[in-house]
Amino acid sequence: MAEITLDEAKKEAASLRTQLNEWADAYYSKDAPEVEDNVYDQSYNRLLELEKLYPQIVMPDSITQRVGGEIDSDFTKVNHPIPMLSMGDVFSKDELKEFDQRMQKLVGHPVAYNVELKIDGLSLSLEYEKGKLVRASTRGNGYVGEDVTQNARYIADIPQTLPEPLTTEVRGECYMGKEAFAKLNAEREEQGLSVFANPRNAAAGSLRQLDPKVTKKRQLSTFIYTWVNPPQEITSQHQAINRMHELGFHTNETGRKLASLAEVFDFIDEYTAKRNSLTYGIDGIVLKIDDLNIEQQLGNTVKVPRWEIAYKFPPEEQETTVRDIVWTVGRTGVVTPTAVMDPVQLAGTTVARASLHNPDYLNEKGVRIGDTVKLHKAGDIIPEISEVVLAKRPADSKPYLIPATCPSCGQKLVHLEDEVALRCINPSCPAQVEEGIIHFASRPAMNIAGLGPKIVKQLIAKDLVCNVADLYHLTADDLAQLDHFKEKSINNLLTAIDNSKANSVELLITGLGIDHVGAKAARLIAQKFKNLAKIMAQSVQDIASIDTIGMTIAESMTTYFAQPEAQKLIEELKESGLNMDYLGEDEPEEIPDNPFKDQTVVLTGKLEHYTRSEFTKKLQALGAKVTGSVSHKTNYVIYGKDAGSKFNKAQQLGVPLLTEEEAIAQIE
Ligand code: NAD
Repeated sequence: MAEITLDEAKKEAASLRTQLNEWADAYYSKDAPEVEDNVYDQSYNRLLELEKLYPQIVMPDSITQRVGGEIDSDFTKVNHPIPMLSMGDVFSKDELKEFDQRMQKLVGHPVAYNVELKIDGLSLSLEYEKGKLVRASTRGNGYVGEDVTQNARYIADIPQTLPEPLTTEVRGECYMGKEAFAKLNAEREEQGLSVFANPRNAAAGSLRQLDPKVTKKRQLSTFIYTWVNPPQEITSQHQAINRMHELGFHTNETGRKLASLAEVFDFIDEYTAKRNSLTYGIDGIVLKIDDLNIEQQLGNTVKVPRWEIAYKFPPEEQETTVRDIVWTVGRTGVVTPTAVMDPVQLAGTTVARASLHNPDYLNEKGVRIGDTVKLHKAGDIIPEISEVVLAKRPADSKPYLIPATCPSCGQKLVHLEDEVALRCINPSCPAQVEEGIIHFASRPAMNIAGLGPKIVKQLIAKDLVCNVADLYHLTADDLAQLDHFKEKSINNLLTAIDNSKANSVELLITGLGIDHVGAKAARLIAQKFKNLAKIMAQSVQDIASIDTIGMTIAESMTTYFAQPEAQKLIEELKESGLNMDYLGEDEPEEIPDNPFKDQTVVLTGKLEHYTRSEFTKKLQALGAKVTGSVSHKTNYVIYGKDAGSKFNKAQQLGVPLLTEEEAIAQIE
């Protein structure tokens, strides 16, 4: 480090802390980072350097001395008596060698490591009592986290019940797979919402939700890697992982116990190469001393365990030149800018385009046509511009001006309240009409085989259709005007269009492309109200009364059907003979959450308020399985007067016991 005086170091450290605190708040509390990780890491490491040079400037509340961010006060707080710490990190193999030497010196002999992938998500603690999941919480500031139990109940791979009645705590990473991440961001972009910067932020933003239904929709997963209080016979990290796997936890199968640094380096090389083909994001490799006794002896600093370290992958980046910025109009009118660049190889694919998402984002990045930019892949999948290389900006470069009018219809673009996106609100905008018809014919909607984007484009260009109702008036002569359309292809398309008239009505609703109303919402609504005329007559509250349908969807539905143009369109479709009824099966209604849902319950003794069969029916209606004998699998025993052997067995096995009155109180 260049010479720096104490005073200078103090000043620089203070300014770094202010900046880092601001970035950390955006990252940890708002799940929306303001800068790339490597920018944050550079400033963080500079602060560490200064604090190491002049230890007297270390502040107890410095970001180098604490874990994570502030806790969202809207969540119930959870204490972590055993803190959930951060992890030391290194960025090169040489630094790993230094770490290994330090460990050998501390321990007095060479050590074996359990080497694991560093999953790009957020830490999650899961607490079980007598084999039942009772609490899930985030890391928070390491000592106090946020209670996300209800949300964790919607994460499919988290066991709600263990095969043994263990009272224990495990920890791991909650993450969003690459496919779910790409899908979520595409949906958000289409809806005019801001996109998540990476899968880590998407996972955090999806788990830290006050409404668990949002978490349910978001497809989160977990990898469990820490057993906080393992039984005595578990003496190593790799044993702990194997045993947790047997207990039903989702563990990552790639971890390996490795005795030499040479093998660790091979592992790093192997996963540096495989990284892009994994279905989840990783940002490095973690080395943990495998022997749990040694871990215990080495303990922790205030912020990180001494016995583990993360090797962070260098960010994969490429430079290229922006040749153009093009704007595309989506089905819902959102107008999205995309940078068109000279093609480059990046993390396994050729990249020539990167979304600039919305005008705010474009302005923040400050991209201009002709700029040299650094490109990376967010979450290893989506190409993104990290920054403009200002030193290479051409002398005659001019700031990029956001267009005021729609690139398709020329109408004035608008910003709707609460939206970062620009929108074209002209319902007859040709680009929107085209996207709308493509969507109408797509597989999750009316599923009209052969009516893909190229054909739709031609139909519009030749003035043969201007809305979806026109599809049902197309004739063989019309289709004969399309490129390469002969008798067979004409007949096939006309038959496919005709067949779609018989579709169950939820496919039609999906096809209408109403904002926020996807295939699942359309099916639930159609299932409940049975036909389109009835659906159109419902109020916002009626629609929102369906479990899992929120106000946003309900409001969007009613607003759409209140428009005279929408009513006219439905009338035309009806006249063309489209089915307007729900033809699917009725699904059993989803049972709302309650203490007995999915629980195995045994009734015993003489009940006073209900007969045995009445109480059984009541519990079954709540989703409970009522059985006749008590075992490890029983979740509750409800007992009345003179209960005998079943009551005793429940006591022996530690199965929770409820009096009839207590059970009724829980039901109510
Ligand atoms: P970290 O995320 O780098 O590492 C610690 C975490 O790794 C643990 O808490 C755990 O959740 C996770 N992990 C994943 N796989 C694991 C495994 N197999 N075993 C054990 N743990 C595993 O540390 P951190 O303190 O949470 O955050 C620091 C990171 O966050 C830095 O990389 C930094 O760049 C980034 N950050 C970025 C910004 C920004 O503005 N871009 C702001 C703050 C922090």
